[in-house]
Amino acid sequence: QGIELERVREHVWEIPKEGDMRVPARVLASEPLLEQIGDDKTLQQLKNATQLPGMTKYAVCMPDGHQGYGFPVGGVGATDTETGCISPGSVGYDINCGVRMMKTNLSYDDLQGKEEELVDTLFANVPSGLGGGGVVEGDAATVEAVLDRGMEWALEEGHAVEDDLKHCEDEGVRYDADPSAITQKAKDRGKNQLGSLGSGNHFLEVQRVTDIYREDVADSFGLEPDQVVVLIHCGSRGLGHQTCNDYLRRIEKEHGDLLAQLPDKELAAAPAGSDLAEEYYGAMCAAINYAWTNRQLIMHRTRRVFERVFGRDWEEMEMYLLYDVAHNIAKKEVHDVDGEERELYVHRKGATRAFPAGRPEVPEAYRDVGQPIIIPGSMGAGSYVLRGGAASMAETFGSTAHGAGRVMSRTQAKKDYWGETVQQELEDQQKIYVKAQSGATIAEEAPGVYKDVDEVVRVSDELGIGDKVARTFPVCNIKG
Ligand code: 5GP
Ligand code: MN
Ligand code: MN
Repeated sequence: QGIELERVREHVWEIPKEGDMRVPARVLASEPLLEQIGDDKTLQQLKNATQLPGMTKYAVCMPDGHQGYGFPVGGVGATDTETGCISPGSVGYDINCGVRMMKTNLSYDDLQGKEEELVDTLFANVPSGLGGGGVVEGDAATVEAVLDRGMEWALEEGHAVEDDLKHCEDEGVRYDADPSAITQKAKDRGKNQLGSLGSGNHFLEVQRVTDIYREDVADSFGLEPDQVVVLIHCGSRGLGHQTCNDYLRRIEKEHGDLLAQLPDKELAAAPAGSDLAEEYYGAMCAAINYAWTNRQLIMHRTRRVFERVFGRDWEEMEMYLLYDVAHNIAKKEVHDVDGEERELYVHRKGATRAFPAGRPEVPEAYRDVGQPIIIPGSMGAGSYVLRGGAASMAETFGSTAHGAGRVMSRTQAKKDYWGETVQQELEDQQKIYVKAQSGATIAEEAPGVYKDVDEVVRVSDELGIGDKVARTFPVCNIKG
C-alpha cells in the first residue's frame, strides 16, 4: 500500500518522518503480525495520527493493532497538554472500555459438572444485549453521582468493598470528572444501563489458570495453576458513545480551522488550552467513572451468582479483584521526553497502561512487581495476565497491547461462521460453555476473527513492555 517500514530492531518498525508528519511512527510487531496489519488502513491511520498537534516522540501501534475510527485500535499517541491537542476519536467511542479480573479460591475441579448451571445463572442475572436494563435502576441523581465519584459511589451504596477500589486503576475514580460536561442526552442513555455488559465484543468469562510464567509475580498477584478466575470486558455503554459523538460534533463547529489541517476528519481534535479541550477532558473522565462503576456492578453481581451456584459466601470463596485496566482512555501523565519532564495527554486506544515496578500510580500491593495487565484472547483461546515491563516507559509511554486484535470484519465473520455451530464445537471440543443473546454475536466473535494472542503477548514480553505472568483459558462465557 506504499507505506515503507524501516526495521529498527527486532519487533520494532518505523515509518520515518516525511511531509506533514510531525514525528515518526512506530509499529511493534513480529513479522507474521506485521503481515496481518499490512492489509488494511492501520499504517495510513498511524501515519495520519503523527500530524496531530503536539504529537510527541512518535505515534505507536501495538502488536494487536488494526484499523479503527481515525486512529488505529492498538494505537498510542502522546500530545503536549499545553501546545498539543486532545482527540476524542483517538480515545475511542467506548470511553474506558476495559477489562477486570476477579480471583477466586475455587479450582477447576470445583467447577467441573457445574458449568452449565453457572453459565445459565450468569446469563440470567448479568444484564446484556443492546437494550436497556442494568443491575441498578438508575435515576438522574444516581447517574450524576456515578459520573462524579465512580467506584466511591458503588462503595457508599454497598456494591463494592474497600478492597475493590484499592485494586482498580486510579482506585476507580477520576477526580477530574466534570458531570456538567456530559449532555442530557448522554445521561439519559446511561440511566438504565448501569451494570450491563452491552453487546458484541463485550463479555463475562469464567476461566481457569493454565500456565504460570513468573512465579514470584504470580505470587504477588495471587494466581496459581487451575485456579478459577472471572474476566469482565465492557465499557461506558450508550453514555460514553454519545459523549464521543457530542464532542466530535462540537469540534467540527468550534474548531473547524484545526480540523481542516488534519489529513482525516475522524482525527478531530480540540486544541490544548481551549475551553472545549477542558470540557472534553472533564466529560471523558466522568464517562471513565461510569465505566468503572459499570464493571464493578457486574463483578459484584457475579459474586452473588457464585454464592447461589456454589452455596458459599463470596468472601469465603475469596472473590477479590486482581485489577481493572482501561483500554480506551486519554490521561494527563508526566513522561520523560529526551531528558525533559513533560505533561502529556497519553491517548491509549485499544492499548493498556503498563507501568513498571516503582511507579507511584501502581497500587501499593503491586508496586514492587509492576501493575497487572490483562490481555483477553478470544472465547476459544487463552487470555493473559502480564505485568508492566521495565522498558515500557521509554518505548511506549508506559503501554502495551489490549487483546489479540481483529483480523476479520463482522460482516465477513457472519459469512464464514454460523453461531450455533461455533457454540457446539467449543463445547464438544474444548469444554467451553458459551451463551449469547444471538447466534450472530457468536459468529461475529468466533475465535477465528482474532489474531493469535500468544504471538501478541510474545512480542510484548520480548520487547520488555509487558511481561508474561500467567495464561488462562475459558470455561464459561456470556455475551451480549
Ligand atoms: P476490543 O473489542 O476491546 O477492541 O477487544 C478486546 C479484545 O478482547 C479483542 O482484541 C479480543 O482479543 C478479545 N476478546 C474478544 N472476545 C473475547 C471473548 O469472548 N473472550 C476472551 N477471553 N477474549 C475476547
Ligand atoms: Mn468496548
Ligand atoms: Mn474493549
